[in-house]
Amino acid sequence: MTSPDWLESWSTEEGAHRVEMLFAEVFDDGDAPDGVWSAPGRVNLIGEHTDYNAGLCLPTALPHRTYVALRRRDDDVVRLVSAQAPGQEWTTRLADVAPGAVSGWGSYVAGVAWALAQAGHAVPGFDAVVDSCVPFGAGLSSSAALECAVAVALDEVAGLGLAADDAGRAELAAACVRAENEIAGAPTGGLDQAASLRCSEGHALLLDCRPGLSPLESATPVPFDLEAADLTLLVVDTRAEHQLVDGQYAERRATCEKAAELLGLSALREIPARSLPGALDALAPHDPDGVLRRRVQHVVTEIERTAEFADLVRAGRLDDVGPLMLASHASLQLDYEVSARELDLVVEAATRAGALGARMTGGGFGGSAIALVRKDDVDAVVATVQAAFDDAGLRAPGFRLAPPSAPAA
Ligand code: ADP
Ligand code: MG
Repeated sequence: MTSPDWLESWSTEEGAHRVEMLFAEVFDDGDAPDGVWSAPGRVNLIGEHTDYNAGLCLPTALPHRTYVALRRRDDDVVRLVSAQAPGQEWTTRLADVAPGAVSGWGSYVAGVAWALAQAGHAVPGFDAVVDSCVPFGAGLSSSAALECAVAVALDEVAGLGLAADDAGRAELAAACVRAENEIAGAPTGGLDQAASLRCSEGHALLLDCRPGLSPLESATPVPFDLEAADLTLLVVDTRAEHQLVDGQYAERRATCEKAAELLGLSALREIPARSLPGALDALAPHDPDGVLRRRVQHVVTEIERTAEFADLVRAGRLDDVGPLMLASHASLQLDYEVSARELDLVVEAATRAGALGARMTGGGFGGSAIALVRKDDVDAVVATVQAAFDDAGLRAPGFRLAPPSAPAA
């Protein structure tokens, strides 16, 4: 069998060099960019499909980042080039950006400028180039990495000063969520943007997605010292492409909202785990095929697992989180029905080869899975997963290491 495909992250220097070179090539008027900014993709340790249910999630930032070289303009024109979208230079005027008015990859970028303006900030036009080692649609949130890199860039060139503290970063994250929901048209919750802007190196971030919380209440850094525990977080990219905008994600979200409404709640978060049986009984008359039951069961139990996971991490008991990861995966597979054959295969093979736990990460339907692995077992887990894909006739997966890394800057 061929050797495993390790997908390395770029150093900050390499990322900056790439976008500076591309900027000089594309905008060849001799004026340099005002700077280079970058933002990470993320993995979610646990707490999947809970953000839009006002629940808990526990992401870490990846070492893999999206880089932006950006220069402010004196007018309201936006010109964009991405190394990942060759031949798709994207241009607009900020005045023309509105929900439903723009499409394509640049809508994630222009949407951030629009959302900041909606929040009352004066945002100029800009020229920007993008390059990234965060893959599209691999469940690692390339969309948020792009939005958040642009957000910190605009924050600096417009002199907003929001990136200086966590409260300001929460504001930037909110603008990125509006960009994705209202301008790019993807109805995602807030997990990805909060992770990219508010995580910190060596930590996971416990996010509480209830609306109206203060920044201090909504995000709590939890030390996540894999090194000290001799553990590695392995990310397996199944290369089975997910597509969040194809309606499945929106359908899951709408089902959760309907269930909450039937129960007279504003979000499923309001159901404590001990009240789950009663809530399911109350839904039964509206639920002939049991879909509502399965979706609600996932959300409520997943929120509880996330709280337990965070407690174990806080207590330094990283060795004990594996069963929660496996339970999360089973719940996503069987109750929420967002897994994929490739994701199930990673979880099964990784566990067989000695991983402490494994689960799909991100929205699902393809994308990536994570495995928590003792350092000494990494090679065996990688080889076993690779062999399982080979035996199943699947394209070879890609592997990444995910030490908890730094936020957008
Ligand atoms: P992911 O799970 O990777 O976030 P999404 O479907 O949410 O998947 O977002 C992927 C989309 O984000 C791409 O199709 C593209 O429109 C945009 N995008 C992300 N990163 C880049 C980039 N580096 N250059 C251009 N567009 C990007
Ligand atoms: Mg995304």
